[in-house]
Amino acid sequence: MKVLKFGGTSVGTVGSLANVKSIVDSLEEPAVVVVSALGGLTDRLIATAKSASEGDLSFREGVVEMSRRHFDIIEELVPQSRRDAVRTIVSDLLSELEDIYTGVALIRELSDKSLSRIVSFGERMSSVIVAEILDNAAHRDSLGFMRTEKWFNRDIATRQLTDELIREVFPLPLTRTVVTGGFISLDKDTGEITNLGRGGSDYTAALIAAALDADSLEIWTDVDGFMTADPRVIHDATVIDSMSFIESMELCSFGAKVIYPPTIYPVFHKNIPIRILNTFNPSAPGTLITDGSENLSSDVRGVSSVKNTCMVSVSGSLTSNVAQINSRSYNAMARNGVSIFLVAQPNTETSFSMALSANDADRAVGILRQEFAPELQSGEVTGVSLEKDLSVIAVVRESIREVRGLGPRLVNTLQRDGIEVKAVSDGASETTIAIITKASDTDRSLRLIHTACFG
Ligand code: ADP
Ligand code: ASP
Ligand code: MG
Repeated sequence: MKVLKFGGTSVGTVGSLANVKSIVDSLEEPAVVVVSALGGLTDRLIATAKSASEGDLSFREGVVEMSRRHFDIIEELVPQSRRDAVRTIVSDLLSELEDIYTGVALIRELSDKSLSRIVSFGERMSSVIVAEILDNAAHRDSLGFMRTEKWFNRDIATRQLTDELIREVFPLPLTRTVVTGGFISLDKDTGEITNLGRGGSDYTAALIAAALDADSLEIWTDVDGFMTADPRVIHDATVIDSMSFIESMELCSFGAKVIYPPTIYPVFHKNIPIRILNTFNPSAPGTLITDGSENLSSDVRGVSSVKNTCMVSVSGSLTSNVAQINSRSYNAMARNGVSIFLVAQPNTETSFSMALSANDADRAVGILRQEFAPELQSGEVTGVSLEKDLSVIAVVRESIREVRGLGPRLVNTLQRDGIEVKAVSDGASETTIAIITKASDTDRSLRLIHTACFG
């Protein structure tokens, strides 16, 4: 049994949905199909919510436009006998949405709770429609099985409970294909609508695949596979035929947007292969992600980057106890829910740095100042500093440490072109060399590194 996930562009138009239909209807056995909201709709739902919270009443036209978009698809693709029923479901959802917008506009305030409810309508509508477009498919509401809990200020999936509910909602063997919406969930304690974060439909699909021990997880998107770099930045990036779970996990957590980062772990854990495939070119072989991968002709599997990065550094005469400072910093961050991309050694011996999301910058500085308060007082630590507007460029392959001299070679490539390398993490990880540059140098650095690695 397979789990197939179709992203926003795949379910965005009548034409792309016709491709989805032909892909799913030609499967040999029933599958689970996870869909995103129609392409661009989640952004639209959020933008409309924000303007409603400023008292702008144009959400009324916004809702009319959303309904037109969904109704056009129903008109074109849902069999006539089911059209009225589907229109009624979608209309009811849209009138509930309009009521929420009206409330937001009246009180001129948009709480996180309201925003989570608002964005849920995208997947609630798309999944009902797709289920009716496919031959002999049933619909299941993902709010019936996806559960989250609060972790600091985030909603994270509650694995065991969600797994149990998935097994109840999708009894095996499947007798029909079942369609469900990705991304959305309920808080296990409050019952409020939550979600798994932007791009989270991939993760819903992975959780279902893992809970049901699926044979494979197929992520259907708008490119021919996982590529050596973001094709929007690197025009000559090529499709990677096969890669390992770890390589894909590293590339995605360092910014390769093709898969939402938490997606890989649950299927990796169950050794369920992932295929990345193109809805608009279904005969292309795509990328196969498994626990092994084919040998490489190049030194590297792929490169990716995360902008919106900052670097927090602890400085002082650290040489004698750098390991201890290192682990205390890590623990302090973990206790406070701040994730660290990497630990980097700047080009000096007297400081130690961590790269993290710029959204956590100020909090991270506060945490470290508190952690090292005694050392700051004694002078052993001379300061905790922050540098913003940075990027991390990640260069990934299994056993990258065995590629001799790669880190210095790449740093040289950048420096020769006048790019300032702020810090490097080379040798700390089995799979990734990470280079920190100014955010404004990101795309140029990616191009230089991609050319150095792939010619
Ligand atoms: P979906 O709506 O199907 O979830 P996304 O927009 O989330 O699609 O992800 C697909 C996009 O990811 C591609 O169109 C591409 O622009 C971008 N992308 C970034 N890095 C990579 C990469 N290394 N390989 C393939 N696509 C990438
Ligand atoms: N619709 C959601 C988003 O746009 C989830 C997804 O597409 O995966 O972020
Ligand atoms: Mg996506």
